[in-house]
Amino acid sequence: MSAKIIRGTEIREEILEELAREVENLKKRHGRPPGLVTILIGENPASVSYVKNKIRTAKRLGFKEVQENLTTTVAEKDLLDMIRRYNEDDTIDGILVQLPLPGHIDENRVLMAIDPDKDVDGFHPVNVGRLVIGGDAVKFPPCTPAGIVEMIIRAGVETRGAEVVVIGRSNIVGKPVACMMMQKGRGGNATVTVVHTGTKDLASHCLRADILIVAAGVPDLIKAEWIKPGACVIDVGVNRVGLMTDPKTGEEKALLRGDVDFEAASHVAGFLTPVPGGVGPMTITMLMKNTLASMKYRTEPRK
Ligand code: NAD
Repeated sequence: MSAKIIRGTEIREEILEELAREVENLKKRHGRPPGLVTILIGENPASVSYVKNKIRTAKRLGFKEVQENLTTTVAEKDLLDMIRRYNEDDTIDGILVQLPLPGHIDENRVLMAIDPDKDVDGFHPVNVGRLVIGGDAVKFPPCTPAGIVEMIIRAGVETRGAEVVVIGRSNIVGKPVACMMMQKGRGGNATVTVVHTGTKDLASHCLRADILIVAAGVPDLIKAEWIKPGACVIDVGVNRVGLMTDPKTGEEKALLRGDVDFEAASHVAGFLTPVPGGVGPMTITMLMKNTLASMKYRTEPRK
């Protein structure tokens, strides 16, 4: 068997085109585009690169994009005051604080300060609660899990009645994606098992999976023999395993590998995502989708 490769880079383009059309319509109806503020503290290279990509995508869609670059010496109180100002700003629909934060700032206090109705990352406990309730209660599904579900749907893989096995129980990937896929509705109705470091026999669970979602952060954890023939395998892992020279720019950059042995898995799986170019591009796309949705919730409330 040769797996169909599900490319996040291609699905991203499809979705961004849909979103760009919606932005134009929103501007016509309300005289303004969706507004996103990105707050970056310090110069952690990974954070700088994530924020740069978010800003680039927001600009491409014609969003109002506000950048706040703060130094690592910023006082927690000043950061909280800034968040509160954006909570009150009617031209801003999404507030994004790039994590991790410097040690003297309480991450939890910062996330709790964001208005849950502008928390487009979906990390505020109110949005976690809404996700668990499901249906119309959900406002901002967290971006990576939402991207995973969207990829599965757009690849034409049936989730209804499917055995889904999720490897990993983190708050940003494992738990929310499991929650989304067991709910009723689009991309849901699956029978979900979550496995983790406390699981006894990982391979036996993987072998049952019609859809295997791997978010462990362990390079090449999943072997071809653990995959049910024809299964859909979504590799969320992003592991920096060395350095490589970028063929386009000649610059040195991180060599990335996923959690799945891609080459071997491609002979067994029916569908497979690559790393890079799989789940990664979907995360920012879903952030944009949430920001646009936020403006709609505010300007065109659901009846
Ligand atoms: P995490 O470290 O918070 O959680 C990893 C989970 O995997 C834990 O719950 C742990 O129990 C489980 N696990 C680890 N080793 C295991 C093993 N040998 N057997 C069974 N379970 C095991 O990580 P996270 O934040 O959920 O991220 C997971 C991976 O996904 C990382 O590589 C991360 O870089 C990547 N990630 C990618 C994106 C993206 O946009 N592509 C977004 C978020 C995370």
